Amino acid sequence: MSIYLRNYLSNSWQSEAHVANTLTDPVTGETLATTGGAAENLDAGFAFARSHGSTALQAMTYGQRAAMLGDIHKVLQANRDAYYEIALANSGTTKADSAVDIEGGAYTLGYYAKIGAALGDAKTLLDGSAAVMSKDQLFQSQHILAPIRGVALFINAFNFPSWGLWEKAAPALLSGVPVVIKPATVTAWLTHRMVADVIAAGILPAGALSIVCGSSAGLLDALQPFDVVSFTGSADTAATIRSHAAITRHSVRANIEADSLNASILGEDAAPGTPAFDLYATELVREMTTKSGQRCTAIRRALVPEKYFDAIAEAVSAKLASVSVGNPRNAEVRMGSLVSREQFDHVQAGIAKLKSEASVLYDGSKQALIDADPAIAACASPVLLGIRNADTASLVHDHEIFGPASTLLGYRDAAHAVSLAHRGMGSLVASVFSNDHGWLAQIGQQLAASHGRVHLVSPDVGKTQTGHGNVMPASIHGGPGRAGGGEELGGLRALGFYHRRSALQGSSATLSALASVAANWNT
Ligand code: NAP
Repeated sequence: MSIYLRNYLSNSWQSEAHVANTLTDPVTGETLATTGGAAENLDAGFAFARSHGSTALQAMTYGQRAAMLGDIHKVLQANRDAYYEIALANSGTTKADSAVDIEGGAYTLGYYAKIGAALGDAKTLLDGSAAVMSKDQLFQSQHILAPIRGVALFINAFNFPSWGLWEKAAPALLSGVPVVIKPATVTAWLTHRMVADVIAAGILPAGALSIVCGSSAGLLDALQPFDVVSFTGSADTAATIRSHAAITRHSVRANIEADSLNASILGEDAAPGTPAFDLYATELVREMTTKSGQRCTAIRRALVPEKYFDAIAEAVSAKLASVSVGNPRNAEVRMGSLVSREQFDHVQAGIAKLKSEASVLYDGSKQALIDADPAIAACASPVLLGIRNADTASLVHDHEIFGPASTLLGYRDAAHAVSLAHRGMGSLVASVFSNDHGWLAQIGQQLAASHGRVHLVSPDVGKTQTGHGNVMPASIHGGPGRAGGGEELGGLRALGFYHRRSALQGSSATLSALASVAANWNT
């Protein structure tokens, strides 16, 4: 039996409209849920969020809003079994892969509940300390951050229906900004269920959380100058959003997280048999197979010294050979499905495209799927491609395969490796594996300007490092150039997007009166 995903706007569930979209089980093809098309009453819903949601949230202190995040966290924990069932059915993911999304979302909420509590009774944030502007030292300027007076619209990608919501909503709600979430249609069920649970729990004030499922039509038109929009998805949709009048004419602040050709570099010192070599091979396989490679941060380009090309190809292929693919309901399956048959076709087309300049080092499709019909299921097997002479290739730096595929590229020396990484034209993350701390620090600096995050792995952190592709709330997520130019998370830095910086100029006595209602932002 399929359920209809209704929109929630102006503090009420909207009535069912005609069915415009169908959500399916990507393994069996069964229909799971339906949605309507273009949402009705968007302007009224956004206006309600601005008037009621914003006013009620901003009447609270940061500490009170942080406590609310903690309560949302508890609701998610109480309903987690249902979330795993939805993820299994609608995303086709194994329990471990569903956890990346579900527990990742809950963890991020818990993190912001904790660091938000430290802001206590504050109602505004100080940005740095006061600057003296008069000879008698009395007239001063203090920058403060004030929560924006509008709505935060989130337009999300299909691959993280839970984490994608909460990593954005936690800092927005902590800032006192109401949220309208538009999940990607194909996996909207999990987002919808979480929002419904939180609303039913009565934690948030009316207008603080709204959801629109099924169509993005009209959403950007509903934005007004003090609103913000945070988008995660493809570069093509990002371009449409950037050119919308809300952004070009009304200066609506936009954060864009788009596709990324993330690189991982194996150091020249990391010869076969050394710990760094083994860590690298393990990480590459984990990145290719976690969520079937459907993570924006996954390693797409594996840069290895030419002399170790064959050894790495062999080590990674051996590990990939033990990855069983199929129906995640079968306990023997380690890697489940892609999100849809459409994505399956995209991935196969992407592999065919890169094969024009790369050779196939490992092809898992020779192994039969477990409990899944290859004519119906969107299960893709891992594929490792290879280009020994990286200078001959260009597509690999430009075309993202959003699935379990990666390309090994040989490099000559460190400068060559860094120049190849830069050919991604701006990425979310690069990782570097070496036994040499000094070299890691040097390469890290060289990669920093073109990468949102640089993940440096030496054997001493081999067991505790958080993973190339895992986005932790303490570090920023986003990247320059083709990665969209956005920035999310990074502890309290995330609150910056939901605040306006203003310079308060006045007597030092006036400014010191702020102290009782302010906390420091950049600590
Ligand atoms: P997508 O097709 O661009 O869709 C993303 C979202 O935009 C969906 O909610 C979609 O709604 C909505 N949308 C589509 N057309 C729109 C329009 N004209 N105006 C406003 N919204 C519109 O991307 P996707 O296929 O879901 O996601 C895959 C891509 O996302 C990959 O390229 C991946 O690299 C990227 N990604 C990036 C990150 C990151 O953090 N950088 C994270 C995850 C994924 P419908 O679903 O209703 O069409």
